[in-house]
Amino acid sequence: MKKPPAQGFGTRAVHAGQSPDPTTGAIMPPIYQTSTYVQPELGQHLGYEYARVQNPTREALEGNLASLEGGAHGLAFASGLSAIEAVVKTLSAGDHVVSEENTYGGTTRMFAHVLSRLGIRFSWVDTRDADRVREAFRPETRLLLVETPTNPMMRLSDIAVMAEIAHASGALLLVDNTFATPFNQRPLELGADVVAHSTTKYLNGHSDLIGGALIVRDDDLAEQIRFVRKSTGAVPGPMDAWLVLRGTKTLHLRMKTHNENGMAVARFLEGHRAPEVTYYPGLESHPQHELARRQMTGYTGMVAVELGSGKRAKHFVERTRIFQLAESLGGVESIISVPAIMTHASVPKERRDAMGVTDGLVRLSAGIEDLDDLLADLDQALEGI
Ligand SMILES: *Cc1c(COP(=O)(O)O)cnc(C)c1O
Repeated sequence: MKKPPAQGFGTRAVHAGQSPDPTTGAIMPPIYQTSTYVQPELGQHLGYEYARVQNPTREALEGNLASLEGGAHGLAFASGLSAIEAVVKTLSAGDHVVSEENTYGGTTRMFAHVLSRLGIRFSWVDTRDADRVREAFRPETRLLLVETPTNPMMRLSDIAVMAEIAHASGALLLVDNTFATPFNQRPLELGADVVAHSTTKYLNGHSDLIGGALIVRDDDLAEQIRFVRKSTGAVPGPMDAWLVLRGTKTLHLRMKTHNENGMAVARFLEGHRAPEVTYYPGLESHPQHELARRQMTGYTGMVAVELGSGKRAKHFVERTRIFQLAESLGGVESIISVPAIMTHASVPKERRDAMGVTDGLVRLSAGIEDLDDLLADLDQALEGI
């Protein structure tokens, strides 16, 4: 049976990490729903001992994700947060982490309320500004985390510059690439050491599981993270790994439509009188549009708008009919939310306000429905604001 050579993104999305099952020729990797593997002799095994450590379905997904991000190793996790946590757990008490301040709310909560209790120290900065990042570094800084674009303000960090700053101090750069996806942005090619994903979002794309992943190039670093995962156990089940793998097969098709719908929704909202500001890196009015064009090839389906008050935001999100009021993003169906009350409620109010995550900020995830229907839906929901 032929093994296709690694080629364009779409070909790799469909094939990378997988080959027909040697027993039956099954074109899809089987779901190895097993906890353990029988050993032919004491002290010998077939490469598989216990499913926390090895699972062939999970390995197929990991090979696929590594290829799409241009990495050497993929590591799948039970959730996006457990993936990010595993990177921080390669550090020790007393070590210091510099983090973008406008990350996904759950990342901020994990750092501030769980990992900082264990003696790891965190500083939060606006990583749009390289000088602030440099100033935040200390001799014991081991990790710089950026999320670009950020959730939900669509701020960008210059990945190549962030890598230079981190490496000059012997620290690692971790980029949360959940919003952009490897279809639009490949941080490892720009110098990042680790890419993190909540596969819950675009990579799976069908709003039917929670999952995470890390992709790295360096063998030693992959080994350190693998050791943390084996020792702490946040692995995805084989069924979920298989579903994400099914999702990534159409990532290139879905992202083309998400990018087109995202851009059109952003232009529509920018041209409408109700929103005060529209945040979308693909708009010429985005303050970092130049950087977006340099390090991204598409701008995703994520758009944020400032409506001026919580009352107006409530009016809008309760009146859309296709855009469903819900947390999460990146699925085929369009979703609308108010971050201050939903995904970012755990971030202290002063911090939220300082970043622009106000009660009037609405976040949209444009799905892959027909664009005319999406625009008509937004238009009727904005009536009366
Ligand atoms: C959702 C999300 C996470 C957390 O991932 P889970 O799969 O929910 O644990 C991390 N980063 C970003 C940017 C996210 O959107």
